[in-house]
Amino acid sequence: MSERPIVVITGSSRGIGAASARLFASQGYGVCINYFRNAEAAESVARDVRAAGVACITVQADVSLETDTLRLFETVDRELGTLTTLVNNAGILLKQSRLLGMDADRINKLFKTNVTSCFICSREAVKRMSTASGGEGGTIVNVSSIAAVLGSPNEYTDYAATKGAIDTFTRGLALEVAGEGIRVNGVRPGIIDTTIHADGGEPGRVQRLGPTVPLGRGGTAEEIAEAIYWLASDKSSYATGTTIDLSGGR
Ligand code: NAP
Repeated sequence: MSERPIVVITGSSRGIGAASARLFASQGYGVCINYFRNAEAAESVARDVRAAGVACITVQADVSLETDTLRLFETVDRELGTLTTLVNNAGILLKQSRLLGMDADRINKLFKTNVTSCFICSREAVKRMSTASGGEGGTIVNVSSIAAVLGSPNEYTDYAATKGAIDTFTRGLALEVAGEGIRVNGVRPGIIDTTIHADGGEPGRVQRLGPTVPLGRGGTAEEIAEAIYWLASDKSSYATGTTIDLSGGR
């Protein structure tokens, strides 16, 4: 890897992505904070990152759009330097619904944002990192969900299925690029205290379900960031194609 590692974290203006940006910065990484709509939140994370003494840029890009994603990576090339790590974190869920309430527009929106984005961002990262094309190698960490295993019946089977796709992609891409200096791994968070639950129509989800988790509480964004960082760093040098459950035992 380069002397000064550079990470792109998609969707890092809030939640797990923001906690990851702060942690990577504390470990000396230059950070690209990607956001969708919330420029103010992105700037607030950027202030914390810069306070750690590392380079930082914020880039607005809707990663469900290929053109925006290309612009995101070109901006990093130009303004930050050689990419060493990608965290595919951006993701959405939509209002809780049984299958009978879902239409193709909803399902396609989820797959575009949660899955297609992960493929296209990873493609751009592999182009830059692969030792087969003159790169220095690198790491990719995909943020899945324990929903991929649980299926999320009556709430969001569509969201759960996007995360199942991420898990399969993590495995497949890891094997595809294992000989090119790139490791690909993932995390499967459980119920984590972020604002994503309000988008599902249940802002109090962590309070409602936290006590039912074997460890007796919801998790924090910082607890997920620790595992993301470990998988991205040389500390996990013999791990590839694996996804870690971070769901309090659920
Ligand atoms: P969050 O608090 O809702 O934050 C979502 C982030 O993604 C924001 O920074 C948002 O940007 C960004 N984003 C949304 N759509 C985007 C798009 N099209 N392009 C670029 N950025 C986009 O979410 P979170 O809870 O931290 O979740 C992060 C990841 O963890 C997601 O993949 C989620 O599925 C996964 N996860 C979360 C939980 C949980 O309980 N929280 C559990 C399992 C898995 P703006 O601020 O600009 O809107």
